[in-house]
Amino acid sequence: MNTLKNGNLKLAVQKEGRLTDETLEFLCKCGFEFESRKPRLFSTCRNFPLEIIYVRDDDIPRYVGEGIVDLGIVGQNLLYEQKAKVKKLLNLRYGFCSLVIAVPKESLIKKLEDLKGKKVATTYPVSTKAFLKKWKIQAEIVEISGSAEIAPALGVCSAIVDLTSSGSTLALNDLRILTSIYDSEAVCIANEKVLVNGKKDFLKQLVTRFKAVLSAKNYKYIMFSASQNLLPKLKKIIPNMKPPIISPFTKVGWVTISSVIKEDFFWKTVETLKQKGVPEIYVLPIEKIVT
Ligand code: ATP
Ligand code: ZN
Repeated sequence: MNTLKNGNLKLAVQKEGRLTDETLEFLCKCGFEFESRKPRLFSTCRNFPLEIIYVRDDDIPRYVGEGIVDLGIVGQNLLYEQKAKVKKLLNLRYGFCSLVIAVPKESLIKKLEDLKGKKVATTYPVSTKAFLKKWKIQAEIVEISGSAEIAPALGVCSAIVDLTSSGSTLALNDLRILTSIYDSEAVCIANEKVLVNGKKDFLKQLVTRFKAVLSAKNYKYIMFSASQNLLPKLKKIIPNMKPPIISPFTKVGWVTISSVIKEDFFWKTVETLKQKGVPEIYVLPIEKIVT
């Protein structure tokens, strides 16, 4: 039988749920090769000392905190809710959602203060309690174990606190958002001991890979040819421009330019380049940026 290897890093990920596909995709992009998860309890990486362990997301902060596994990938929301003793290493830029208070569309509850004396159903009692306390709202928290959206229709409560990403599930259930409690995304967490024990070098390598993929996600590589006369203008548009290349294939009086552009400024930069007379711009996705 395949067994977990002791010296390997153990990383817990969600077995089946909203974070699973993107987490496994992210690990593949980082270059970790492993057998598909189904019907496994864990996968051993072929090319890195790493075991990927598939569990329910709710168990991940505790498993990491207690050192049952070294690392975990989980929604930041669970860290707020469970307060496990773990070290957050990185935000992973997927699994975006918000914990919100929602009420039935026709409800007379229009503002936070209207929740006073009302029942609020949630699977996030700790976060809900902390939020209501902060705003000095005395309301009764009804802890449920799933499907909060249905609770108002069943007469269980006047409001719910639940996770949402686009708000469409809430709208489908005739609920409207009253306010947001916090925003969340997937994060990588570690047990504090792994930062200093015999696995710390593997951890460093793993974090370098994670960061390389994360930075690449935010950048694009562009390449274009332009008349040499345009260079002063181009330097203003792309301050981090690499030295222009004059290749045998470039027209006389022209140069070839390449640069890495942040996704946030990408369209603005490309549009400005076109306005300045750059005829053709090649855009390439970046797989990794190793620094
Ligand atoms: P499990 O069976 O592992 O306990 P679950 O049903 O508790 O799964 P999912 O609904 O799969 O959990 O959500 C996992 C995580 O995905 C959440 O904790 C949150 O961080 C993130 N997430 C992203 N978008 C949403 C969303 N719209 N609703 C709920 N969670 C979301
Ligand atoms: Zn869960």
